[in-house]
Amino acid sequence: MMQTIGHVPPTRLLGRYSYPTSHRVIEFSAVIAFIGFGGVFAVGLASSFIGSFDGATVAVTMVAVLVAALAADFASGLVHAVCDNLGSVHTPVVGQKFIRSFREHHSDPLDMTRGDFIRVNADNFLICLPILIPVTLWLDVDGHPFLATFLVAMMGFVVVTNQIHKWAHTAEVPGPVRWLQAHRLVLSPEHHRVHHTPPYDSHYCITSGLTNPFLTRIGFWPALMRLCHRVGRIGHHEAAAAGTSSGR
Ligand SMILES: [Zn+2]
Ligand SMILES: [Zn+2]
Repeated sequence: MMQTIGHVPPTRLLGRYSYPTSHRVIEFSAVIAFIGFGGVFAVGLASSFIGSFDGATVAVTMVAVLVAALAADFASGLVHAVCDNLGSVHTPVVGQKFIRSFREHHSDPLDMTRGDFIRVNADNFLICLPILIPVTLWLDVDGHPFLATFLVAMMGFVVVTNQIHKWAHTAEVPGPVRWLQAHRLVLSPEHHRVHHTPPYDSHYCITSGLTNPFLTRIGFWPALMRLCHRVGRIGHHEAAAAGTSSGR
């Protein structure tokens, strides 16, 4: 879509990054914890699937994965739209960590293409942990096969969302990724370009973008943006004064 140019983070103790090493340690810890708990959860689900393998189980699995794909795409758009339109980088707790990255993405869409795997993806691994850890420890997979499959698929889609978004801004992507983009199975550069084009008021979903046309048709984005602006009126005025209200 665009060329990878600009500032490349310096090489430091834990890779290429330009933020505090303590943040980098949290990011690595989140990815390792996700792989550990996710592996245990996935193995338990796979054994349950094999133990009760029949047509009904396959149908339940396919429906759960499809619903998860659509839910993850919608969730990506909801979080993205709220972070683009509500509050500011000065909002407590989420301002610096989440809102800033979405606002700065509009100032410099290629910045994420200069980040390595950890920098681009660790936040999504982190936000899954409050769900992944309890379901791994306590969910009865045999008793709730649809819910278990839905959750593992949903978290699988969530943790690849930022990588998919990065690929939509990357000039050269691997052949299989280009194939997935061309078949609309992941966000394509052409589809996502609409979000980065004035008036910047649609196409917020960034996993596959499959839910964007429906949400645009029912007027979901203008309604959500009006709600965000009404709720975050004070935050927006503060952000506008600081020159960070939209980040575009
Ligand atoms: Zn945006
Ligand atoms: Zn983008």
